[in-house]
Amino acid sequence: MKKIIIIGSGMGGLATAIYGQRNGFDTTVFEAHSLSGGQCTGWNRKGYVFDPTLHNFNGFKFHTKINSFWRELGVLPCEMVKRNEYVSAVLPDGTYFHNYLNLEKLQSHLKHLSPEDTIVIDEYINGIKSFINDIDWFGINYLGSFREKLSIIPFFLARIKYFRYTLKSFARRFKHPFLRKAFPLIRNSIPDIPLFAYLAEHASSVNDDLGWPKGGGYTLSENMASRYRQLGGTIHYKKMVVKILTENDHACGVELKDGTQYKADFVVSNADGRKTILEMLNGRYMNKKISKYCEPNPVDKEVPMSVQVFFGVKRDLSSYPSSLILFLDKSEIIGGHTCDHVDMQLYGFDTSMAPVGKGVIKVELSIKPAYFLQLHNDKTAYKAEKNKIAEQVITLLERHFPDLRKDIEVIDVSTLHTWERFMGGSQGFNNFPNKHRELTDIRNIIDVLFGLGRMFTIPGLKNFFFTGQWVTSMGALFTNAASGKAVVQKICKHCGVKFEKSSQ
Ligand SMILES: Cc1cc2nc3c(=O)[nH]c(=O)nc-3n(C[C@H](O)[C@H](O)[C@H](O)COP(=O)(O)OP(=O)(O)OC[C@H]3O[C@@H](n4cnc5c(N)ncnc54)[C@H](O)[C@@H]3O)c2cc1C
Repeated sequence: MKKIIIIGSGMGGLATAIYGQRNGFDTTVFEAHSLSGGQCTGWNRKGYVFDPTLHNFNGFKFHTKINSFWRELGVLPCEMVKRNEYVSAVLPDGTYFHNYLNLEKLQSHLKHLSPEDTIVIDEYINGIKSFINDIDWFGINYLGSFREKLSIIPFFLARIKYFRYTLKSFARRFKHPFLRKAFPLIRNSIPDIPLFAYLAEHASSVNDDLGWPKGGGYTLSENMASRYRQLGGTIHYKKMVVKILTENDHACGVELKDGTQYKADFVVSNADGRKTILEMLNGRYMNKKISKYCEPNPVDKEVPMSVQVFFGVKRDLSSYPSSLILFLDKSEIIGGHTCDHVDMQLYGFDTSMAPVGKGVIKVELSIKPAYFLQLHNDKTAYKAEKNKIAEQVITLLERHFPDLRKDIEVIDVSTLHTWERFMGGSQGFNNFPNKHRELTDIRNIIDVLFGLGRMFTIPGLKNFFFTGQWVTSMGALFTNAASGKAVVQKICKHCGVKFEKSSQ
């Protein structure tokens, strides 16, 4: 039986492990942290669950490719908790833009808010409707065969007009100042997101395909890890891999931090790409392209969601939108970033996230990595800065949630250093090859849509594969898990074995 060692148990690592085990390989996972799941995680503080990543999970809808895929991996069934709104916004005077999932309600709410924008509002609603469709275009696009992909080209062509806009450029068409201001931010405050991508997400939520899994991201990872254990696999926790062993340019095992070595026929890395190439392989397999990929990402550009401030509050939050942009009456500098609004998640819709009658608020800030870099080696200063940020955020929130401070029972702040500390990354959670492009660059979008430019292997090194974000350049659970399946397909092909997926 051929052996596969997998470094890391994120989405890509766990999927490699599960499909590997199902296909008759002897797999072992070494995980540096004490938990599986990587970025898809969460932690419990005094009964409050803090989820740093998940906003939306794709694949709840039956009879879609992504749903079947998650079932193969044991992630589903998992209860979807219904939310009523996508990302909504509120002005300092309390005026709300409720971005409802009920499209009739959304249309009449928007027309009431801004009667002069009737034409653009109808276009927005029709745009969402156009992506509510029985064709499994999303699953086919990512998991379909080449032939299936060709079959959905007409679907995209019929919606080509939505590819012309970004959220920002579409927002300019609104006359109402609130909608002009709020619209660019309704997808995690990334105004350059293409309009079609946003419309498709809103539509998937209406369609009950995109949603929130009860308990958050950690539940998903735990489901996957237990499927792997049921298949006879073992995850070794707190085992950091420091070296990939090679013989005649073939990967043949790993060495852990404690010096122990393990041999295998194949090694798959779900760890940070830079660390894998530069440290675990000691920079021995480099070419021009790989050197460029390994260049550090800029530290002087704000990274969305790079700092998260969690509050466990003894307050019922169930009447609030699940995702809210809170506009401020005057801007505030937090962690070097000038905030004229804050992005927040209010988890009152999922009762499993907090003790009865209580709730969790998460505020996500876009801060430059450089800001915390200076503090990295000074633990006291780092902690003091995190406390300062939490204090500033509380003061801002109290403008909309009077007397919030007295109801706060737990505070937790995570930064990019938190990710690096727990997951061994070199760039916070940003384990992407540096392609010297903005994430929203059209070339990136095409790569991501059509799965181009993926780097599963390293030239010159045999029996080695990458899985996860370094391959996909995409921050989404299903694409990274799908890269694990693709790795096992490649290994099967290499070994002349027919790939069998599963019998769920
Ligand atoms: C703020 C944020 C919000 C997000 N929101 C969403 C969302 O709403 N929906 C969605 O679908 N996706 C979302 N994502 C993206 C998604 O969480 C990630 O794309 C996905 O979890 C990455 O999976 P991965 O396979 O790359 O592995 P990772 O999650 O990167 O895991 C890698 C694993 O390898 C381990 N490891 C690293 N080095 C070593 C070593 N040397 N030895 C042993 N183990 C090691 C780490 O500890 C970790 O467990 C979000 C991500 C972030 C950061």
